[in-house]
Amino acid sequence: PPIILWLRRDLRLADHPAMVAAIATGQPVIPLFIHDEVVEVLGAAAKFRLGLSLENISTQLRDLGAALILRRGRAHDVLRSVVAETGATGVFWSRLYDTASKVRDTEVKAALRKEGVKADSHPGHVLFEPWTVSTKTGGFYKVYTPFWNTVKQKEVGVCLPAPKRWPAPANWPKSATLSNWKMDAEMNRGAAAVAKHQRVGERAAQDRLRNFIEIAVDGYKKYRDFPGLRSTSGLSENLTYGEISPRMVWHAGARALNEGHLGAEHFLKELVWREFSYHLIHHTPWIETECWRRVWESFPWRGDTELAEAWRRGRTGIPFVDAAMREMYVTGTMHNRARMIVGSYLTKHLLTDWRIGQAWFADCLTDWDPAANAMGWQWVAGCGPDATPYFRVFNPVTQADKFDADQSYQRRWIAEGYTKPSRTALSYFKAVPRSWALSEDIAYPDPIVSASDGRGVALVAYSAWKEGH
Ligand code: FAD
Repeated sequence: PPIILWLRRDLRLADHPAMVAAIATGQPVIPLFIHDEVVEVLGAAAKFRLGLSLENISTQLRDLGAALILRRGRAHDVLRSVVAETGATGVFWSRLYDTASKVRDTEVKAALRKEGVKADSHPGHVLFEPWTVSTKTGGFYKVYTPFWNTVKQKEVGVCLPAPKRWPAPANWPKSATLSNWKMDAEMNRGAAAVAKHQRVGERAAQDRLRNFIEIAVDGYKKYRDFPGLRSTSGLSENLTYGEISPRMVWHAGARALNEGHLGAEHFLKELVWREFSYHLIHHTPWIETECWRRVWESFPWRGDTELAEAWRRGRTGIPFVDAAMREMYVTGTMHNRARMIVGSYLTKHLLTDWRIGQAWFADCLTDWDPAANAMGWQWVAGCGPDATPYFRVFNPVTQADKFDADQSYQRRWIAEGYTKPSRTALSYFKAVPRSWALSEDIAYPDPIVSASDGRGVALVAYSAWKEGH
């Protein structure tokens, strides 16, 4: 009888503990992906990107003699039917840590075990299980630096090899067809254009890692904050779907560091930010939906006003902010420095609830990650766990002077006002929905809140709120 390998955010063959464990049973293995209640609510770009990843892993599996079985429905219902159809004795999967996945997985595990089916969850999505990193007093970490100091001393296990042969069952259960799922249905922004910016699948991820280590890691510390340069790894879209394991990325970075490439230490530190976000989402799950420091719930954030709409549409009149918002809309990604600046502008200059930004990112990012996105937004809004005082307000003009001094980033994404706008900048107007009524011929707006006013706006609101409670 077969084992079902339930794939979710682990769409790779190499360094896949759940896959290795399933194959090690000596039984045939059926890889299964379920378009379930957690997939259903993904944002447009994330769902679309997931579709590309599924296409890729299904080819990889086919080359090994395996079929990726696709089914749609509630996870437990689907698993119960595939178990009944195939006589499978077990279901194996890689653990996830966001609330929706944890609730689903806990229910599935209990239900399967009650039905006499082995239900086994495995590590692999993070370097260390969130409960295995603890402070001296046995608690969890709330601050990054001590977390890093602990993690960097821990042993990261060796990567597991990809299977060479697949233990196929005599008969494969029937599968849905990926194209019928229309994973791009909610992409009202030209899915083909966004697709051009994706590097999908395990091979692309490994190439990306190799190139980054060979070419860019030395300059990483110095250049990583410049959005006009390609100086970061771009691996987040691969890591979020598990097209590469964080362990493989860690070892590549650690090896480079040992060989004297000092920029690699900074890279490892960034990878550990991802780890920290998972530590937090596991130990403080409300980070996804509520201010981490709950007192901030009473802050008079603005709701979804026309200011937020201008922000979403890249029409705030602040070129750095608008460039970044347009970059995300067209490419599905946004440079980390730009994420901080647009986040700060929305929450401080526009005093808008961080959850409005979080939701828009969730809709637009192909690297959307429940943990990193939530932590990032709480960090920029100043209500998160790290000691970031609310009054740290990024000025998007001085930030642009510092990190985009030659304006290459802004020119890449802003067309208005240039006699020869760049092709990328023009592509934005092709991507946006017609209902937005935008074109390069409409004059660039004046700032809705000027760069220099933001600090004052934020501080006045902060003091009034502080006094009132
Ligand atoms: P590199 O600089 O090459 O870093 C290597 C890896 O380290 C990344 O791929 C990523 O996995 C991890 N990493 C780097 N910086 C961070 C960070 N600040 N937090 C967590 N992990 C990090 N990242 C996502 O993957 N998904 C998101 O939805 C997301 N939303 C964000 C929202 C906001 C408001 C902010 C400020 C940051 C967000 N980030 C998110 C973190 C960060 O911006 C991206 O991980 C980074 O830009 C990815 O580019 P890269 O792969 O080239 O990173």
